[in-house]
Amino acid sequence: MEKNIKNKSVLIVGTGLGGLTTALRLAKRGYRVEMIEKNEQAGGRLNQLKKDGFTFDSGPSFFSMSYEFKEFATDCGIEIPFKFVELDPLYTVNFSGSNKTFYLYKDLDKLAAQFAQEEPDFKAKMTRYLKKSGALYNDTVDKVIKTNFDNVIAYVISLAQVNPVHIPQLFQTFWQHVQKYFDSKEAQQIVSLIAFFLGRTPFDTSAIYALLSHIEFVNDGYYNVEGGMYKIVEGLVSELHKADVKMSYNVEIVDVESKGNKVTAVIDSTGKTWTADAILINADAAVFRGRVLKREKYSEPKLLKMNWTMGYLTFYIGIKRKLPMVNHHNYYLGTNFADYSHRLEKDPDTLEKPYYYVNVLSKHNANCAPEGCETLFFVCPVPNMIYKPDWSDRDKIVDSILDDFGKRIGVDIMPEIVSRTIYTPAEWEKRFNLFKGSGLGLSHNLGQIGAFRPANIDEKFKNLFYVGASTVPGAGLPMAVISSKLATERITNYLK
Ligand SMILES: Cc1cc2nc3c(=O)[nH]c(=O)nc-3n(C[C@H](O)[C@H](O)[C@H](O)COP(=O)(O)OP(=O)(O)OC[C@H]3O[C@@H](n4cnc5c(N)ncnc54)[C@H](O)[C@@H]3O)c2cc1C
Repeated sequence: MEKNIKNKSVLIVGTGLGGLTTALRLAKRGYRVEMIEKNEQAGGRLNQLKKDGFTFDSGPSFFSMSYEFKEFATDCGIEIPFKFVELDPLYTVNFSGSNKTFYLYKDLDKLAAQFAQEEPDFKAKMTRYLKKSGALYNDTVDKVIKTNFDNVIAYVISLAQVNPVHIPQLFQTFWQHVQKYFDSKEAQQIVSLIAFFLGRTPFDTSAIYALLSHIEFVNDGYYNVEGGMYKIVEGLVSELHKADVKMSYNVEIVDVESKGNKVTAVIDSTGKTWTADAILINADAAVFRGRVLKREKYSEPKLLKMNWTMGYLTFYIGIKRKLPMVNHHNYYLGTNFADYSHRLEKDPDTLEKPYYYVNVLSKHNANCAPEGCETLFFVCPVPNMIYKPDWSDRDKIVDSILDDFGKRIGVDIMPEIVSRTIYTPAEWEKRFNLFKGSGLGLSHNLGQIGAFRPANIDEKFKNLFYVGASTVPGAGLPMAVISSKLATERITNYLK
């Protein structure tokens, strides 16, 4: 049996977190694993930018569900190859025109004290809200999120086992749900901010995702990685090297060769063919099917009709001074949270934003900035390129946010800037083959999750599999780790 497995090979296309974690799970089971990546370094969206003496995390800034990384490490028989620190407060929130900063503590008494003026009954209301969020999480996580479904019927049977008490949430938006629990604008907006983390707004995200609030405040919170998020990738790559996984960079797969119901090789942009017994695609599962496999169901017009998450405007600013008044993770809300969210796709060129996020990596990682300097990473949700194809106004938008940020913290940072890099959805699309620069891939509406999401097993080729944000279960770092578990199950079943 052991010898048999060692003869079997798996080729992984893409080195995002989904690809890396599946590679190690398979290598540790004895398969011969090889990885190829279109870019010059591993990590996919979980990446890093080093410039002008500054080190920036370029995508994710924190993660939840740390127990998924623990399960992964146990499965691979290793220690988690990076150090992580729990965040408390989780982050801060500031409203436009207000000097007040809300600290989002996990402790409900400390949290309620933040809302003493705006929402006097906060603790009781939040307790009720979190009880419902916890029930949503506990009743769905194993049955819906962590399970491979072979077909829609199996999925529907599993859904039918979910407690029917949650049915009303199927017909409500996140915003409607939150409004039932809280009265103040501050509490409603802060609690529903998490819907943006799924790549859409609280106004078009299902109330079912209130389960995320349970993950955020109760179940596990958020974690920072010591030295920056890219340490996750460096740790995994080091483990993969120890496990003899070969990695090739600057290789983009553009075509496949097949015979009957098997892919016999994938072909890169130079015409070179790459073969293996099983092939795992970590590139976007819908885009790959459409653009590389040329599947009619994922043709360009069909991809356009699917529901994609928003784009991100991210910018990486190095400044030659310290900002002691700014915390590590900060959200700055606009004046027009609801209004902008509704107009997102109709009025894409507005300078107004529902919020922007600022990460000061150098706050706890001194070696990420030169002495006396600060590393600032801004993330702003924006229309993807379906709605805003032209980003020639990028500098104007960035300047307007930097100006707003300076006013809020009382320091004009413009003259302090020594390093400035901007990624619009156009850069995100080009770099990682993200459809129209959609930051998180396919959105998580009810018609695009579970058995309705592009499957992790190919419709036609039985040796072709998928892992990552646009297949099951969905976007985010812990979901990529769960996705690797589901893909590993598929591949090992096929190769046994
Ligand atoms: C700005 C931003 C902020 C985020 N913040 C957070 C956060 O704070 N916390 C969190 O949990 N999540 C966050 N996310 C989401 C998280 O980054 C993603 O869900 C996750 O990293 C996706 O991993 P993946 O394995 O699915 O794919 P990817 O990271 O997209 O990796 C796929 C890889 O495949 C490669 N590839 C694509 N096509 C080909 C091809 N044809 N040939 C060869 N290689 C190819 C790509 O270059 C890429 O390296 C954020 C995302 C963004 C964009």
